[in-house]
Amino acid sequence: MSLMLTKEDLAKYPFLKESATFVESLQLDLSDLATEEYSCVLMKALARIRNGIDRTAKPVDLSDPETEILAYPLSLAFVYGSKSNWLLNRFATVEAKRVEEELRREPEGKLVEIAELGFAWDIQQENLKLEWEELSFSMPVHAYLEAATGFNDTHWKLINRYVKGGRVFLNSGSLSRLISEGFKMKIIRRGAERELADFRLPEALRRHLDEIMKYAQRNAQYDEKLPQGLVSDARPPCIVAIMEDVKAGKSLSHMARFALTTFMVNVGEGVDEVLKLFGNVADFDEGKARYQIEHIAGMIGSKTKYKPPKCDVLRSFGLCVGMNESCRNAKHPLNYYRRELKRMSRFGGQVDARGRKKRV
Ligand code: SF4
Repeated sequence: MSLMLTKEDLAKYPFLKESATFVESLQLDLSDLATEEYSCVLMKALARIRNGIDRTAKPVDLSDPETEILAYPLSLAFVYGSKSNWLLNRFATVEAKRVEEELRREPEGKLVEIAELGFAWDIQQENLKLEWEELSFSMPVHAYLEAATGFNDTHWKLINRYVKGGRVFLNSGSLSRLISEGFKMKIIRRGAERELADFRLPEALRRHLDEIMKYAQRNAQYDEKLPQGLVSDARPPCIVAIMEDVKAGKSLSHMARFALTTFMVNVGEGVDEVLKLFGNVADFDEGKARYQIEHIAGMIGSKTKYKPPKCDVLRSFGLCVGMNESCRNAKHPLNYYRRELKRMSRFGGQVDARGRKKRV
């Protein structure tokens, strides 16, 4: 093992060769991990997948690093065994997010070591102080281009980077992001390899896979495609109430703005339509509002399209304004909306291609 890497590091960064070596040294197979003796490992692996489904990047439990080291390949086996690209992408994205957060807390020397051991990148420590930032690392241009291919944001373009002597200079945040993206791609590419096409989980683990898939399906509903554009009659009461407050020019809490904006972008309204809604609000600042809407819609920044908060959260912020009959089983405003669309089309209020209610 490297001089600087501890077992805790292997638990945090499962893409390191040393983590795999540690697992191999135990000579266990997947069926062993389904036995009572390894129930802690199984629990941790399942929790890790649920975190992926919930988009929650929780740090690993460093009080028991060996269990965490073993839980990672088991969670990966579940993900590959599910044959679900949705689950694979969600798991890889959240694991990458978790790793990025861990890396941002590491000293510079360790970042270099992790990048080298994990991806064989030739990273050098630098000490370049520009007017607006400090660039503490550099890597060869070709390696940088390969590592940053998945990023659309313009600040990753080579033209916007400091390049000298065939090397791209980076700050620690950028290097952490590149490493975490490399990890994400590793998980996704491995899933596409031919040898995994026939991979099946051992019988003893299938029951857990079924539970995971049920859990994923309940949550995956949020990702189902909705018709483009708001269908007013299908709006849940909480969103109707916020829209009425907006219309009346009342000032809105941060959560109310967030709930309304996320709801609108998720039902397919464009930035300009959402912007128009807020025009009446007393402290309206178009530039700021546009930036926030674009961010929430995943057009800029982290490129993540945000979902509206669940009903529980809206309730705790006092934004759930008395549930109606349809609210009873809806745990999420988008569930409510989706069900209302279905109900409307069943009872004659059909929905056209833009999602607008049609007269029949
Ligand atoms: S139950 Fe949910 S959907 Fe219904 S009003 Fe409350 S927050 Fe909105």
